[in-house]
Amino acid sequence: MDFALPEELRQLQEMVRRFVDRELIPIEMEAMDGPDLKPEIRLHLEARARELGLWLLDVPEEHGGMGLGLLGMTVVWQELARTIALPPRGPGIFGPEVRAVLFRLDAAQRARYLDPVLRGEKRTAFAQTEPDAGADPGMIRTRAERQGDGYVINGTKRFISHAERADFLQLVAATEPGLGTRGLSMFLVDMDTPGVSIARRSGTMMGDVTCELVLENVRIPAENLIGKEGDGMRLSQSWLTSGRLYQAARGLGVAQRCLEMATRYARDRVTFGSPLSDRQAIQFMIADMFTEHALGQLNAYRTAWKADQGTLERHESYMVKVSCTELGFKAADRCLQIHGGSGLSLDLPVQKMWRDARSFMITEGATEVMRVALAREIFRSLA
Ligand SMILES: Cc1cc2nc3c(=O)[nH]c(=O)nc-3n(C[C@H](O)[C@H](O)[C@H](O)COP(=O)(O)OP(=O)(O)OC[C@H]3O[C@@H](n4cnc5c(N)ncnc54)[C@H](O)[C@@H]3O)c2cc1C
Repeated sequence: MDFALPEELRQLQEMVRRFVDRELIPIEMEAMDGPDLKPEIRLHLEARARELGLWLLDVPEEHGGMGLGLLGMTVVWQELARTIALPPRGPGIFGPEVRAVLFRLDAAQRARYLDPVLRGEKRTAFAQTEPDAGADPGMIRTRAERQGDGYVINGTKRFISHAERADFLQLVAATEPGLGTRGLSMFLVDMDTPGVSIARRSGTMMGDVTCELVLENVRIPAENLIGKEGDGMRLSQSWLTSGRLYQAARGLGVAQRCLEMATRYARDRVTFGSPLSDRQAIQFMIADMFTEHALGQLNAYRTAWKADQGTLERHESYMVKVSCTELGFKAADRCLQIHGGSGLSLDLPVQKMWRDARSFMITEGATEVMRVALAREIFRSLA
């Protein structure tokens, strides 16, 4: 059994860590303008990423990318989460972000949707959640009805990230409404199709923005169906595994940075005649942060590695998502406490990490829903 990262991933980890330490952390308090990077900073960082060879990391080699698997991406995501310089839910700076589903398109769909995304000419958003269907996608009411040589779509989607700048949606809708998740299908829907509109824009406590979308008699050609009717849940799950690992990796990165900040502050800050680092109450917090981070990292790397080998059981990604997002939030909370009033100040990054880390316990599968699914699997295999 070998717990070390393969040498090429260790080198990649070091390179990204150096980039974060030298080029992102120094600008992190002023890099963002609302939900995105300031345009001049984005241009500069994207140019630097290309220089460093950090471009289209997870895009398969046959599409011109580096073909990094989920273990490699987990390592990169973890390092990037040590800074608040970048928008936590993208867009990142390592090239257009391509959801795994787009690699499953047929040749004609790839030419119209995937290739323009890879060239940076089109952007996409993922639209599954609805006002009555968040944690429970079986409640999805958006209906795609087959009519002639196409589909007519009606419904409302909520909390859709990046919808404002998207050219097309990967949209989940019911083709067989009585069948719950088995009746869901996934479609490519151009944002400029008549009947698609942004009804509402909502800010979040993390600073990002989501949209409510209304689809009213939206007609799309039958060739915009991805895969087959009924494939919707399977396709969306294929993306969600990497989404869960992404959020787990962010928890780990936050925990690592918080550990670094908390130990430094505790060493330097003197109260009642001694540094905070001499106090057992503070030592316990630091020791727990360290232990939880180490355990979480082992589990996350193992889970990502199994996903790359094709041997991952779905409940394993639930386990890692729950534990790493929780340990990330706990670490941010302890770090904030150790910093006292400074932790609450907008001059330090910890308050933003605290808000971001909290959000990851809800998105891509709320903690409770993951635990319920995990318990079901445990009872199935052990009871
Ligand atoms: C910033 C942000 C970005 C997002 N981006 C996207 C996006 O791009 N595309 C997209 O489709 N969606 C997106 N979402 C939606 C996100 O995935 C949902 O918010 C999430 O799935 C939870 O759904 P909900 O908010 O409707 O919560 P609900 O379904 O109302 O659940 C509320 C709470 O109830 C509890 N709960 C639910 N079911 C159970 C159960 N069975 N047992 C115990 N407790 C339960 C959980 O604590 C859960 O947090 C985004 C959300 C946010 C906040």
